[in-house]
Amino acid sequence: MILVTGGAGYIGSHTVINFLNNGIKDILIFDSLETGHIETIKELQKISSSVKFVQGNLRNADDIDTVFANNKIDAVIHFAAFALVGESVTNPRKYYDNNVAGTLNLLNTMLNYNCKKIVFSSTCATYGEPEYTPIDEEHPQAPINPYGASKLMVERIMKDYDTAYGLKSIKLRYFNVAGADTATRIGEWHEPETHVIPTILKSALSETGTSFKIFGSDYETIDGTCIRDYVNIEDLAEAHFLAYSYLNKENSSDVFNVGTEHGDSVKKVFEVCEKVIGKEIPVEMVSRRAGDPAKLYANADKIKNTLGWTPKHTLQDSISSAYAWEKKLNAMLDTTLIS
Ligand code: UDP
Repeated sequence: MILVTGGAGYIGSHTVINFLNNGIKDILIFDSLETGHIETIKELQKISSSVKFVQGNLRNADDIDTVFANNKIDAVIHFAAFALVGESVTNPRKYYDNNVAGTLNLLNTMLNYNCKKIVFSSTCATYGEPEYTPIDEEHPQAPINPYGASKLMVERIMKDYDTAYGLKSIKLRYFNVAGADTATRIGEWHEPETHVIPTILKSALSETGTSFKIFGSDYETIDGTCIRDYVNIEDLAEAHFLAYSYLNKENSSDVFNVGTEHGDSVKKVFEVCEKVIGKEIPVEMVSRRAGDPAKLYANADKIKNTLGWTPKHTLQDSISSAYAWEKKLNAMLDTTLIS
């Protein structure tokens, strides 16, 4: 059985669908539901009743021990984490406690039950301010916020646990993730939402005409706005399946960037949103957001060459699926408020 921590969240839930599509049915989701949603679990269980769910928190060692005591876990896909950069700066304790100490509980429990395979959700935020682009896996890791630092610490712990205990891990360093399930069953659902694409879409759907704010137009980039590498959520989910398969076959640890190798500016993303929706969206330029590097995009040669991964969706595909999901989410939340 595969354990998916954080499977009620955005990336975890899409990965569960991908594993089901790839014929892996025996899945147990462990999630605290602090940021994930029970509605997402219900959707996954509609797709396959083989998906089990246990509510629990990695910060409580007993919660995760019980999962391993009651189930034969062969491998772990580990998503459970807090992931808001700004919040990590004002509340680092929450991030180190959950992302580092929680993961340590998980890894120690894995060792206790002789489970030695894990795919880990890492991030390009471990690189910090880029010294060069595109960023490859050899780029120095110097995170500039506690979120990135917490993920880097886990990468380091995993390296040491491999050397000492033979626990094998694949670390996937994601760039910016975008889009939703193409069948619109699940999608991105954060409260509050701070990410650029859902924020633009919320402005487009806003009845009060709330404008989308572009954070900074004076960067040294092609149009003055920040450049990011937007990888589609279904492509990212597939990267997890390939990483898991590689781990089973090679039984060796490794690290891979997951990005498209293509940078798009905030202005470009905004224009594609207007094109997909077919109407003008209210927008204003505001000052820079603290901690935003001008340009982040991946060199993804390693994952392409080693795992055979290739991104299949365009930015427009991601925005189209995200828009379909955003409308559904809007309707769902309206119904909840009324009832
Ligand atoms: N951004 C923006 N307005 C928003 C949200 C984000 O201009 O309301 C910009 C942000 O400054 C960054 C890019 O969009 O340059 C991507 O931000 P996001 O928060 O989606 O992801 P991050 O790069 O922080 O992981």
